[in-house]
Amino acid sequence: MQFDAELLLLAMAPVFLACIGWEAWHLRRTRPGEPIYSWRDTFCNAALALMQQAADKLAWLAIIPVYTFFYQHYRIHTWPASWVSFVVLFIAQDLLYYVFHRCSHRVRWLWAAHVVHHSSERMNFSTAFRQSVMYPIAGMWLFWIPLAVLGFAPKQIVAIVLINLGFQFFVHTQAIGKLGWIEYVFNTPSIHRVHHARNDRYIDRNYAGVLVIWDRLFGSYVDEDPRDAPVYGIVEPLHTYNPLKATFHEWASMGADFASVRGWRDKWRALFAPPAWAADYHARRAASSAVADARSREQSIREQATGQSTVNANHTAAFQTPRRP
Ligand SMILES: [Zn+2]
Ligand SMILES: [Zn+2]
Repeated sequence: MQFDAELLLLAMAPVFLACIGWEAWHLRRTRPGEPIYSWRDTFCNAALALMQQAADKLAWLAIIPVYTFFYQHYRIHTWPASWVSFVVLFIAQDLLYYVFHRCSHRVRWLWAAHVVHHSSERMNFSTAFRQSVMYPIAGMWLFWIPLAVLGFAPKQIVAIVLINLGFQFFVHTQAIGKLGWIEYVFNTPSIHRVHHARNDRYIDRNYAGVLVIWDRLFGSYVDEDPRDAPVYGIVEPLHTYNPLKATFHEWASMGADFASVRGWRDKWRALFAPPAWAADYHARRAASSAVADARSREQSIREQATGQSTVNANHTAAFQTPRRP
């Protein structure tokens, strides 16, 4: 029987659900009163996972032929089936995941899809389920094309991508502290809690998939500091448990900004600048509309005052008229 790699995450669902059950039970006992799980948040996460799994299954139908094309026409090596080729594939894909993930936080087009994963203000195993149906549109699959060029078959690429994502489920928890020497090599719950935090010192740090060596090598690593507990979520909180809103809010905001900015340079920025550009742009717009509001208020007060003085003048005139001889 051949195992269908595309179903790997669905096949692991019982393990994921058991972990969620254990964590919810464990944290209720050890940290009572702390809002780590909520039914609405968990259901929203589960809905997002199901939507993403369905979209992914369809997307692979379109994407695998692209990998096949590069594999057949542009591969630079043919790997024999061995542990060595598995290790090379694993390391290469994990590095590409790091690149993809870092770009996802620095390019708004990719952030529009990735923000779904970060928009919950809770952090638990079910947070790993928060994925976007829009990843195929955003172009996540483009980042794995180099693997086909390196000589890995499309099925192997799909399998390693899903193994990497499957591993990442286990770093979404507050139930596990630091893990000693493992923190130097692998992504861990402590490292990934930092990634989900919006504290100034944690934001846009720790992009690791499985190996944290890339963060340490490329300067994006920061340690979880017990004196600065992570505050989870995004800078502008979403306040919704609606999976559709969570999926599309940033796309809608990006589309509106693209339509409203003037000039192609700013239109490009609306799509591809870091997400902070959008925050800046919205702040500038809010400030200029506040100034415009203040001006129009001032204007109308002035007009009222002028109108009033005209009325007063007329009134006085009318009052005085009969007295004229
Ligand atoms: Zn992220
Ligand atoms: Zn995460």
